[in-house]
Amino acid sequence: MICPVCGRELRIIVTTYEVPFFDKVLLTSISCECGFRHADSIVLGEKEPTRFKIKINEKNLFAKVIRSTSGTIRIPELGVTIEPGPASQAFITNLEGVLERVANIVKTLMRWNEGDEEKIRRCESILRKIEDTIAGREELTLILEDPFGNSLILSDESFREVMSEEDAKNLKTGLSVIELTGLSEEEISRI
Ligand SMILES: [Zn+2]
Repeated sequence: MICPVCGRELRIIVTTYEVPFFDKVLLTSISCECGFRHADSIVLGEKEPTRFKIKINEKNLFAKVIRSTSGTIRIPELGVTIEPGPASQAFITNLEGVLERVANIVKTLMRWNEGDEEKIRRCESILRKIEDTIAGREELTLILEDPFGNSLILSDESFREVMSEEDAKNLKTGLSVIELTGLSEEEISRI
């Protein structure tokens, strides 16, 4: 396989994960000397549009999350949606790792919106809720939807359902990366 950026030969690494109650998960990581990288996850076996839901609390922070390039993450209490974009990469993390990702994005937004009190207050309230959840004072809901069934939350506490075709069709698989209610498109596109 040839690098789409520079034309050199790509380095391809495939890692297989054995996942309880599921088939195997393949993680592919492609990289090139020029710096081009791409990662994705593929769940082998039955493929259905899937939605996972879990209440994040201090006890399940280490539950694994596998998010493929087609996975959409929502945290309704925070008004946060992370959607797939053309540059999105698969990642394996845990629930705490997802919260940390969101916190980092929110901190970046705060720097860009210095002086805008309303937005700063909203960002601060998101950060507080994340902190409170990690400390066990609050719970947040994490929803992970994937029209191709390649994303998973690995926990006994997670609820898995097959999505309706209509819901699955409404998921983005194209442009746009993150939406925070109350922030303009322009700010979002800079992330
Ligand atoms: Zn290259």
